[in-house]
Amino acid sequence: MLTTAQLSQLERIRTIESLQAFLDYHKLEFKWTYFLASEGKGLTVMEAIRAWYKIELYKADFDQWISNRGLQKAYDFFAITNQGLNPHERRVRFRQQIEATPTRPIVADTPKGAARRIFSRHADGNLILEIDNTSLSSFNSCARAAEFRLVRGRGSNSSPATRYGSAIHLFLEKRLCGVDHTAAMRSMIDLFKTYPPVMPDEWRTVDHAINAMTQYEAFYSQRPPLKVLKDDQGAPLVEIPFCIPLTTVDVNATFPWPASMLVNGETNADHLKVGKVYVYWTGKIDALVEDNTGGGPLDHKTTSMLGPSFYKDFELSQQMIGYLWATRKVFLDRFSGVPRRVTIDVIAGRKPTKTGVAHEFAREHFTYSDAQLEEWEANTKHLVADFLSHLLRGYFPMQTNWCVAKYGVCPYHEVCTMSPSHRLGHLERSYEPMTWSPLHPTTD
Ligand code: SF4
Repeated sequence: MLTTAQLSQLERIRTIESLQAFLDYHKLEFKWTYFLASEGKGLTVMEAIRAWYKIELYKADFDQWISNRGLQKAYDFFAITNQGLNPHERRVRFRQQIEATPTRPIVADTPKGAARRIFSRHADGNLILEIDNTSLSSFNSCARAAEFRLVRGRGSNSSPATRYGSAIHLFLEKRLCGVDHTAAMRSMIDLFKTYPPVMPDEWRTVDHAINAMTQYEAFYSQRPPLKVLKDDQGAPLVEIPFCIPLTTVDVNATFPWPASMLVNGETNADHLKVGKVYVYWTGKIDALVEDNTGGGPLDHKTTSMLGPSFYKDFELSQQMIGYLWATRKVFLDRFSGVPRRVTIDVIAGRKPTKTGVAHEFAREHFTYSDAQLEEWEANTKHLVADFLSHLLRGYFPMQTNWCVAKYGVCPYHEVCTMSPSHRLGHLERSYEPMTWSPLHPTTD
């Protein structure tokens, strides 16, 4: 069994060589390599890995089994479809078919492209800084992690948990837009097909998501439906991007970083001269909802850790207060009263066990006061100012209280544990360019 830290490292591995180094270092083999080895084939770990990637392409009937359930299931399926053969013949045939398939290299989880830069150039020559919830979280935690992610543009774009969450989000978005259950399910399954195969230990599979959404719909069929607000054309206000001016910072100084590293589309390697920075709060709201007890933004949250601290987190959630702040700025006229709350639609999923509950659902309202919204605005402006002052100093200090936090080990832990002279090279080689933005999801 891989530890959480090992799985987190594994998520970031992109080449056969670094995978081999990882396996050697941890003296690890995957469960499915035991399967092949125990069949007397004598495969090395790397041969088994190559076999894994070959078989994924073998034939359409295998795709779903292999990408979502693991090699053992693929073999089981093969055995079912080859009942005329004895077990030994089946294993030989299975192995032959693996070997007959074309090789495919291990590839990145998401398409690689140029990293998005932290600034864009305004037409008047000043800079635009669009901050979203991810940037705000970075400003709020370790400054060195913010440097790696936002300034150097390196990180991990996805993990099984984020991919699973995205698939669930897609289903729920379609349903809120009026798409029928079957078509929404089809979209979710199609999205899973674009994902790389998951580790055999991983429970966040397409089957788990299908069960989750089937049970979710059954659960809420007995309860009052969400009332989603509509725009002027009658379209439901679902998945709404926003970009709202937050503040303007007068910098009037030179950042000790190349312009090409900080500004989208610029190639100048000179240090960046900065006049003003126009700061915008950006994001995407899952939906706007209202009933006779109140209204505000709705946010779907998938989690595997549902408990008192999960809900406690929302009482001061910068994301949710910021989304309510944005809702009031842009969509106030859609509501019958002033929106004062955020509805969290919780989809809790766990690894299936014989006795445990695999799925749980809840909808909770969190009400925020006017004072909290004002304080969010002041806090966010100061966090942006702190980030800009780190940029100006040319130094982002390590804040090591965040190295091991509530959601596990910091994704840059392996970078920070290296000697300083090796860190940036490793960051460049082993981490993906950060390309996502709520306003430009397909840019780069
Ligand atoms: S490992 Fe620790 S010091 Fe390094 S970026 Fe993460 S939180 Fe900061």
